[in-house]
Amino acid sequence: MVNCPMNSGSFLNYVDNAKSKNTVKSYRNGLKHFALWYQYERHGKEQPKRRSRRDLWKYIIAILNSVLEERREQLGSDNPEQRRIMERLIEQWHRHQTRDGASVNSARCRYVAVAQFFKFYDLDLKASMIPSEVKKTVISQTNYRLTVSDLKKMFQAADLRGRAILLMAKDLGLRIDDFSRIEVSQLPDLDAEPPVSFNVETGKEHVWSQGFLSAETVPVLRAYLESLKDRQCSYCRGRGCRECDGTGKKKQSPYLWPSNGDRPMTENGFRRWLKDLAQRAGIKTSPNQRLTFQCFRKLLMRAGIETGVGLTAVKMMVGKSVAQSDATYIVQADLRDAFKKVSKFLNVSGVEEAQKPLKDMIVQQEREMASLRKRMKMFLDKMKEQDDLTHDLKSNVDKLNLIVDKLAASGGLPDWRTPDGARKLVEQLKKNIVQDYGGEN
Ligand SMILES: [Zn+2]
Repeated sequence: MVNCPMNSGSFLNYVDNAKSKNTVKSYRNGLKHFALWYQYERHGKEQPKRRSRRDLWKYIIAILNSVLEERREQLGSDNPEQRRIMERLIEQWHRHQTRDGASVNSARCRYVAVAQFFKFYDLDLKASMIPSEVKKTVISQTNYRLTVSDLKKMFQAADLRGRAILLMAKDLGLRIDDFSRIEVSQLPDLDAEPPVSFNVETGKEHVWSQGFLSAETVPVLRAYLESLKDRQCSYCRGRGCRECDGTGKKKQSPYLWPSNGDRPMTENGFRRWLKDLAQRAGIKTSPNQRLTFQCFRKLLMRAGIETGVGLTAVKMMVGKSVAQSDATYIVQADLRDAFKKVSKFLNVSGVEEAQKPLKDMIVQQEREMASLRKRMKMFLDKMKEQDDLTHDLKSNVDKLNLIVDKLAASGGLPDWRTPDGARKLVEQLKKNIVQDYGGEN
């Protein structure tokens, strides 16, 4: 049999095409970790710095090719010790991971990837020679069910930066990778009336989140931004050096959550921060529960359901894609109202959106009532005018009737066509009118 060189790339191709997205990620991560460790452990070579992803994988595939060759040679040996070299290396690798802080689960995932890799080339690891420690799995973990009271405890235990992260995380419900990359220049006008609209383009689904910053978050965030300006230069500790142009202050990072370097705080940094804060706040999780950044997102979703706001609105807030037909029914104004309800439910510090909406409503109603009253008064005045006019007319008609009656009773009208008759008529009219009006002669 001819030993043609084996190509570890074919396994990666097979995985890429046949497995789910998460499996691909997990397998690639396991193989990468193993290859880099192997190269250092066996050949004392450090991973070359600053490679593109493409170059890195070329490098890893080359290592894995040599691993396969070594494995094939070892298995062809008559010496049982030689044949078990890889199993012992795997065991060593596992110890290294544990010391490095890897969880039981992630070490096991990496092991599975490497075991599958050897299996693919008919170079199976001898499972019985691998300690159960390496193959052990823990019960699958579920996300801890974070509550508002947990938020309150954490808020109390947190420093200014911690409070800013906590409040923003529970307002926005963003994924950790989108959250960690927020830049200062992206922030909305914090002087606007809260809740302040804040949209972020999410990396995973390429959907814009349509979130808000609540009334309790805005002042904390503002104070935090101020504090960023005062960060001490880590080279000279405030004395002034070339790095900081003699100011003693750290250069402003474009990122809202800067690390010590130029980059934003890493996802692991956020994980450590959350773990540490939860511990200080006395939050107890059972071993099969994990408290991750995802818990803020879940809490926001739950608040959406429990306040009756509904999932569609909250999904739009966090940038989860929703059916276009659902989205068209919800406009920005509805989202704002929805957020107000949710944020009242998730209130941590007691600072709430001002009662202004209610006050506004009362002012508006009073204004409408005043205008109504004014219109009613005008209407009544008109009616009274009409009334007076009608009354005058009526009394005049009555008087005329009376005069006609009296003239009729006095034996008919004199003939006003003769001078004598006309004079008599005028006299009688005068007499009657003077009588009726009780007037002068
Ligand atoms: Zn300095």
